[in-house]
Amino acid sequence: MVYEIVKYPERVLETKAEPVTAFDERLARLVEDMFESMYAAKGIGLAAPQIGISLRITVIDLSFQEKPEDKIVLINPEIFEREGRQYEEEGCLSLPDIREKVNRDARVKVRAQNVKGEWFEIEGRELLSRAMQHEIDHLDGVLFITRLSRLKRDLTLRKIRRLIKKGEW
Ligand code: ZN
Repeated sequence: MVYEIVKYPERVLETKAEPVTAFDERLARLVEDMFESMYAAKGIGLAAPQIGISLRITVIDLSFQEKPEDKIVLINPEIFEREGRQYEEEGCLSLPDIREKVNRDARVKVRAQNVKGEWFEIEGRELLSRAMQHEIDHLDGVLFITRLSRLKRDLTLRKIRRLIKKGEW
């Protein structure tokens, strides 16, 4: 099932999501639906709040269906190691057509659960590091525009308000 992507300023996007506690059939189906919804929206990462579900789940596929091993599911993820800095452009399905450079850690190590509830660790560099930080931010109710300088954030918010007014958002 393809869910509609929730856009800013929907409140669920700025709400801290709840931990997943039931690792059942319903969760497995939800994760598959998240991949389907992400592909339908042409994204490489999606967090559950972006489909209106306030749970700590995110899916990532940097190769966009090219390589099955690139499909990553992070449930209740936490970053436990960070190193270096990077400053690259990001976008977000919940903020269509907005692209800005964001400061991130160059390399992160994440601990998370899979759909069966088993804990694992994953290390990301460059784009994967960025994607995991971006998606985990979503679970804490943080959008990437929050991480921009105040000037850039204000300009971006003004642009969004203009688009909403014109009915183009
Ligand atoms: Zn996003």
